[in-house]
Amino acid sequence: MDKCLRPHHGMCFQFYEGKGYSKDFTDHMGRVIKEMENAPEQKITLTVSTDLVCSNCPNNEENKCNSFGQVKRYDEGVLQACGLEDGESISYENFIKVVKEKVIDTGVRKKICGDCGWNYICSKKEAN
Ligand code: SF4
Repeated sequence: MDKCLRPHHGMCFQFYEGKGYSKDFTDHMGRVIKEMENAPEQKITLTVSTDLVCSNCPNNEENKCNSFGQVKRYDEGVLQACGLEDGESISYENFIKVVKEKVIDTGVRKKICGDCGWNYICSKKEAN
C-alpha cells in the first residue's frame, strides 16, 4: 500500500532544516524524508488529510490537524498548481520534482503558504 502524504508537505520537504513543533516531530520528519529520499521511486498517495508526517505532530488531535482549514488550503493550493488530485498516486521523485517546478521555481509558494509560521525559513532559502 502507498504511503500517504499531504500535498503541502511536498513544499515543507524542499526546505526542511530540522526545525518543527517538537523534538519527537522533527526526529520523525527527518526519518520520513530520509526514507523517501532513499527510495525515490516509491509511490505515495496524495491525501488532503493527516499523513505519515502528522502522526508524530503535537497539533494532531484525534487524527485531525488543529489547523485543519489552513493546511487544507495549503494542500489544495499545491494540488491546483501542480495539476494533481486528492487521492492520486505518484512516485515520490516525480511529486517532489513537480512541486519544485510548479510551486517553488514559479514563486507561487508564498501565495499558498505565506502565512505559515515557518515561512521565514523557506523565504530565506528561496532568496539564496
Ligand atoms: S498535524 Fe497539522 S501542523 Fe502537524 S504536520 Fe500535520 S498538517 Fe502539519
